[in-house]
Amino acid sequence: MRRFLLFVLVLFVATRLDAATIIHAGRLIDGKSPEPLVEVSITLDGGKIVAVTPGYITPGEGDRLIRLTEGTVLPGLMDMHTHLQSQHSREIYTERFFMDQADFALRSTIYARATLMAGFTTVRDLGDNGVTTIALRKAIDKGWVIGPRIFTAGKALATTGGHADPTNGLRGDFRRDAGPVEGVINGVDDARKAVRQRYKDGSDLIKLTATGGVLSLAASGQNPQFTDEELRAVVETAKDYGMTVAVHAHGAEGLRRAVLAGVDSIEHGTFMNDELIALMKKHGTYWVPTNMAGEWVAMKAEEEGYFPDIVRPKAAAIGPLMRETFRKAQAAGVTIAFGTDSGVSPHGENAHEFELMVEGGMSPMAAIQSATLVAAKLLRIDDRLGTIEPDKLADIIAVSGNPLSDISAMRDVVFVMKEGVVHKQP
Ligand SMILES: [Zn+2]
Repeated sequence: MRRFLLFVLVLFVATRLDAATIIHAGRLIDGKSPEPLVEVSITLDGGKIVAVTPGYITPGEGDRLIRLTEGTVLPGLMDMHTHLQSQHSREIYTERFFMDQADFALRSTIYARATLMAGFTTVRDLGDNGVTTIALRKAIDKGWVIGPRIFTAGKALATTGGHADPTNGLRGDFRRDAGPVEGVINGVDDARKAVRQRYKDGSDLIKLTATGGVLSLAASGQNPQFTDEELRAVVETAKDYGMTVAVHAHGAEGLRRAVLAGVDSIEHGTFMNDELIALMKKHGTYWVPTNMAGEWVAMKAEEEGYFPDIVRPKAAAIGPLMRETFRKAQAAGVTIAFGTDSGVSPHGENAHEFELMVEGGMSPMAAIQSATLVAAKLLRIDDRLGTIEPDKLADIIAVSGNPLSDISAMRDVVFVMKEGVVHKQP
């Protein structure tokens, strides 16, 4: 009897281990093929993809079948520019005086969930108060809350008075010298120290603000704010620690210095001219255009009293320019990785960026690949994510309809799986 029970137990365990998940995909955009595949089966073993087979295969006994035969199946999307710590509102400039770190961290879980439900299973977070998205990443990895896989910069680096200086615009006794531990550097020693501090904090990569920005409480939206030496010190130190460098840049001079220093990606790139387009192509620098941020700040600049006086003229000027730059630079063939700057615009609306990219002249397939394989390459995770093919992790989503004929379908996400776990289904 005991032997029989043992046999039954072994059989049960064996069936559980062998049980596969099979997805029937009516249309599959796999992230790398130039055309979609029609009527295929994706076989999963736990969190991994083991096969992509033509036709609808019949599941074996105990296998789980997921039928996504109506819409379009795609790899989990990746947004290379988010700020999960916050979401812009009139209160954003004062909330840090009333919210504790714990409040920021707990609120960020709402934004993380919204992002995942919008089909984004991976994000690169480009700047918070130094702890929020690092804590959020840990909570998601441990399964305490649900959200996308996060690669975060933690606190962004700035020079004194620069775009990411946390004491800009405050009254005198609050307007202190923050220093490299809080990400404010002046000179190469500070630059190295600030990178090492991010490593110590648990950042995955470095973000720096090479030029002024729209939403900071400072006058210029585009002046260069790092010297060549400071940029080189950041890049060299980041390399020592296996980190990539993402650079916020609107103005041409700061952008040029950053590309020459060997950074990995340029964010926004508003004043990118022909010379800089050629330079970025030559250096293989990725561009994360964030059309949504441009659209959003231009819209809000028209609303009387929404922005502080020092921000409004920058928003009105830079927003519309971003659209023009996108049209020109994408046609010229700069490598584009998808990014929205969500947290400027509301979280969970990330897929609207696809519409703006297609409006700006990009093909729907290229726009989708910018958020899958290209983004995975920028994150250096293309050995395990970014496409739907054997040996990759099972980050798989589905949208209703066909985004290749109507890109707005990307906003109607009906199925979300992250590493084999289903978070949303029809
Ligand atoms: Zn940003």
